[in-house]
Amino acid sequence: MAAYLGVDVGGTKTALRLEADGHAAVESVVRWPVGGGVRHDLGVLARAVREVCAGRPVLTAVGVAMPATVDGAGRVVGWPGRPSWTGLDLGAYLRELFPTARVSWADDGDLAAVAEAAVAGRRDVVYVGVGTGVGGGIVLDGRPLPGPGRGSCELGHMVVDRAGPACDCGRRGCVQAVASGPATLRRAARGRGVGEVSAAELRQAWLDGAQWARAAVRDSADAVALAVVGVAELLGPDVAVVGGGFAVGLPGYAAVVAEHIRASARPGRPGPAVREAVLGPLSSLSGAVLLARDQLAEAQPADSD
Ligand SMILES: [Zn+2]
Repeated sequence: MAAYLGVDVGGTKTALRLEADGHAAVESVVRWPVGGGVRHDLGVLARAVREVCAGRPVLTAVGVAMPATVDGAGRVVGWPGRPSWTGLDLGAYLRELFPTARVSWADDGDLAAVAEAAVAGRRDVVYVGVGTGVGGGIVLDGRPLPGPGRGSCELGHMVVDRAGPACDCGRRGCVQAVASGPATLRRAARGRGVGEVSAAELRQAWLDGAQWARAAVRDSADAVALAVVGVAELLGPDVAVVGGGFAVGLPGYAAVVAEHIRASARPGRPGPAVREAVLGPLSSLSGAVLLARDQLAEAQPADSD
């Protein structure tokens, strides 16, 4: 009996999904402990894996979606979102955690793009995931870009504002520095002028049409739109999919991105159509399960030519 585990490692939490033959799928979300380092995080992850897998068939394969930069040898070379993970030999750790399963990992944005392209039946998609950071992926002609051996699609570090805020990568004006959930909440707090703003407060104020909330969210969506327009100029994908927990939590966010894209159209380049992520905040997790099932290639719609 086969069992496949997808793990979507995030900046504040991690999601797991186990699909085992003859069993209903199980999902679980665990939050990282506040103030703990990588060892604490890994302890939480190992416990969550044990709980999800209890009473299920032995794992056949595991797919892990990672927001961090991981080198070819499987070592985390950088993750501003959780700096204590830098230097972790992820490959060795996962092989130790899953000694009998086939284990693979890939960039979370790349996996989300593949999963969204598959579920929408599309061959050309640019995906933007707005959460703790901004991730993204591109599927062109049914294949994820930039392709094996070329790293991942780091859409979140496209510079969209030369004079923009500092990004935690060390540059200024990356789309992530403007559009991420934390960056948008900080801008919202400055706009409101009193204390910090939580995601729930921003959501409510956005729905109520508060000026400070609208301004903060519009700046975020504008940065995402500029990144999509840049990708569209180079590659011409026909659909831009907007997902990620932060964007999905703000009704109408994708529509604002679409508005900005339409406003920046030029003759012959109308820009891609914008769609909300079909899989909501679960795009990367679905991609991780596809990776575990070794179905990334099969997930793509068949060649039409
Ligand atoms: Zn950056």
